[in-house]
Amino acid sequence: MSRLVSLLLPVLLLLVSQAIATLFPESNQSAPKAALQACNQLAVSLGSPILQTSGNSYEKAATNAWNLENGQYQPTCIVFPTTSKHVQIAMKAIYAAKSHYAVQAGSHSAMKGWNTVQDGVLIIFSNMREATYDPVKDSITLGPGVHWHDAVTALEPFGVAPVGGRVGDVGTGLLLGGGLSWLSPSQGYATDNFKELDVVLVNGDLVTATATNQFSDLFRALKGGGDRFGIVTRYELYPVHTGTKDEKNWFGGMLLAGKYQPIVIQFNSSAEALLNATARYVREIDDPKAVLLSTFSNARTGDSLAPLYLMVLFYNGVNLPEEIFGDFLSIPAMSSTLGPMSYFDVSETLGLGNDRGYVQRFGASALVGDEETYLEAFDHWMNFTQAFQGDFNITTLAFTPVPNSQIQAGRAKGGNIINAPHGGFAAVQLAEQFNAGLNRIPPQVLEGLDLLFEQIPPSPGLPLYLSECDPRQKVFESYGDYELLKQIYAKYDPEKFNVKHTQGPVGL
Ligand SMILES: Cc1cc2nc3c(=O)[nH]c(=O)nc-3n(C[C@H](O)[C@H](O)[C@H](O)COP(=O)(O)OP(=O)(O)OC[C@H]3O[C@@H](n4cnc5c(N)ncnc54)[C@H](O)[C@@H]3O)c2cc1C
Repeated sequence: MSRLVSLLLPVLLLLVSQAIATLFPESNQSAPKAALQACNQLAVSLGSPILQTSGNSYEKAATNAWNLENGQYQPTCIVFPTTSKHVQIAMKAIYAAKSHYAVQAGSHSAMKGWNTVQDGVLIIFSNMREATYDPVKDSITLGPGVHWHDAVTALEPFGVAPVGGRVGDVGTGLLLGGGLSWLSPSQGYATDNFKELDVVLVNGDLVTATATNQFSDLFRALKGGGDRFGIVTRYELYPVHTGTKDEKNWFGGMLLAGKYQPIVIQFNSSAEALLNATARYVREIDDPKAVLLSTFSNARTGDSLAPLYLMVLFYNGVNLPEEIFGDFLSIPAMSSTLGPMSYFDVSETLGLGNDRGYVQRFGASALVGDEETYLEAFDHWMNFTQAFQGDFNITTLAFTPVPNSQIQAGRAKGGNIINAPHGGFAAVQLAEQFNAGLNRIPPQVLEGLDLLFEQIPPSPGLPLYLSECDPRQKVFESYGDYELLKQIYAKYDPEKFNVKHTQGPVGL
């Protein structure tokens, strides 16, 4: 009897929700009702374990988001697809019910609501984690749920790597926002390395997009345009022949500066020297083998914050050439890990970054300029940090050089929708991790961030980085191909279903 009930229950729920749907015209349906309708439909068409509404796997997945703010949502149901077909079925039900929804891959979006949903359907790719290499096609294929460390580990024996993230636990959502990789100076943004994409469109149709087929416009939009255009269920990528673990064909590592002293040292000399070195590097170095990440943090030690500056330097060669890295190497470091490395070692340098349980916030800028420009940005960031120091566990100001070689490499592979006018600038990331125990960002800190964005605006014509922006920043408007992006969006989602039913970047 109980088995009969459990078999019939989804059907009954569906009939009830359909009856409700006829009473309420779709446009008047509230979000919870629309979500329930979609979830009830999916309970029938997908069933458990693909569809979950409660229980261990539901709870674990709903609370797993890297940004604690996103771990506090309770989706009406979660779909755990194992095939593109499951995603099609889910999207058709979501579209028919006009339900809110969200998609989650590696879960590392810092943007509130971008990878989860309240009163809606959440699609989580944790069961689609393929990472394979086809030597005949010379292609890497990734499932959308794979994390970068797992992808690099699976592909290393073949001597290849994807142009992916610098931190291991991050996922493939990085590709859709652009993607800044250790391999970017020679290979372009991560997204420049798309070969073929399987995409489930907003109406549930599955298409394969390439640079030359009838979906070439969609293909271009997905190279930096984020998640509004469809759900990618398979990434085929150009590989980079980086070598295996045994091939120590890189040199580099980390330099740490700073003394973990109280924040009263507002502007110490090592910060100034490192900022000057960073400014000169960004302006002058255009060597595809050279890689830099320059980060300035203030990290909690007891009741106060203390400076910690981390420079990550690599060269795809046998040493760090003096003419490229000399400025950095001449600054006394607290500790250093420099030495010969394989690309696999390079990819492990920053670890997994899988700390959970903190509210997180990102913000973006993009700078070209002289030393003064960098010192001013640092000064504004320090003032912001001091103003709200009681709220932060860690605050960071990071510079990733985007050299001309990166922009040229991307253009040689067909270009992307970001279409930066030139290289020779720094992608600037502002990141805050709030104190443990805080589960929302105090409004005064958000106001402080607004001021900080005004104080460190992007240099004219330069694009903001979507994957590391503040949700209120107008990233698309900063793109070289913004008009084209809007046209492509209008073609693939004429009803603006995704703008109305998912949270994400503004401006489409
Ligand atoms: C610790 C840390 C380190 C980072 N390091 C780097 C770095 O080195 N380089 C860099 O470029 N960025 C970096 N980032 C930023 C990173 O690119 C973004 O956070 C990115 O969005 C994470 O992707 P994800 O799959 O982990 O996250 P998710 O939150 O799962 O996804 C991010 C966004 O993409 C959407 N999405 C995901 N998969 C799909 C899909 N298949 N189809 C459609 N939409 C999809 C989601 O809905 C969400 O809006 C880092 C972030 C963190 C937190």
